[in-house]
Amino acid sequence: MHAMQRRNLLKTAASAGLVSGLGGLGMALPLLASAKGRPGAKAALIVVDVQNCFVDGGTLPVKGGAEVVPVINKLAAAFDNIVVTQDWHTAGHASFASAHPGQKPFSSVKLDYGNQVLWPDHCVQGTEDAALHKELQLPTAQVIVRKGFNKGVDSYSAFEEADRKTATGLGGYLKQRGIKTVYVTGLATDFCVAWTALDARKAGFEVYVIEDATRAIDLNGSLAAAWKQMQAKGVKRIQSADVASA
Ligand SMILES: [Zn+2]
Repeated sequence: MHAMQRRNLLKTAASAGLVSGLGGLGMALPLLASAKGRPGAKAALIVVDVQNCFVDGGTLPVKGGAEVVPVINKLAAAFDNIVVTQDWHTAGHASFASAHPGQKPFSSVKLDYGNQVLWPDHCVQGTEDAALHKELQLPTAQVIVRKGFNKGVDSYSAFEEADRKTATGLGGYLKQRGIKTVYVTGLATDFCVAWTALDARKAGFEVYVIEDATRAIDLNGSLAAAWKQMQAKGVKRIQSADVASA
């Protein structure tokens, strides 16, 4: 059998779920499905919220946040399609502790749409804090999805706001472009990356999270919980080395 045929067979087997029941081999399988070549025209890299606010010196720094930048820049070379997201809040946004008298950052309140973690003021529209990280090099990125701009509703997910009703339009955009698979990277693993990955699954995409291209906030065990939830929904956890750049 030619190498190419074997590769296609593996891909077909993986996509048909024929190899999904192999238990302990489970972690290795996404590698088979993804590592043998470029992700291709039907795949998109989603770069979530790699903004000044989420790195050292920003208003809501994620530990090691800037370390994802070179990893993502390198990954970008492998992708025909790149989507960038940007947390883009109004001043006085409902997700800010400062908008709720008596509340402190990292506590939670109930809003009409459910539980909301309260954050320090961050990523306010048009500020330097909300700008994309200056070392991000994504010359082939085609669209920027801004989210969290409705004052009363947060949006961790790039697909759907936290009211779970208001679509951002990203799902339609990707579908109209013929995208079947998304690779999610950026900040933070346990919030905007996880919610984006879960909603991508819900919208019917095959979804990979590239772990070393993300960093987490990890608030009260939120990182382990996020991975558990993502894995239960069929999100595949891989490393940047699993994605071929040539
Ligand atoms: Zn935010």
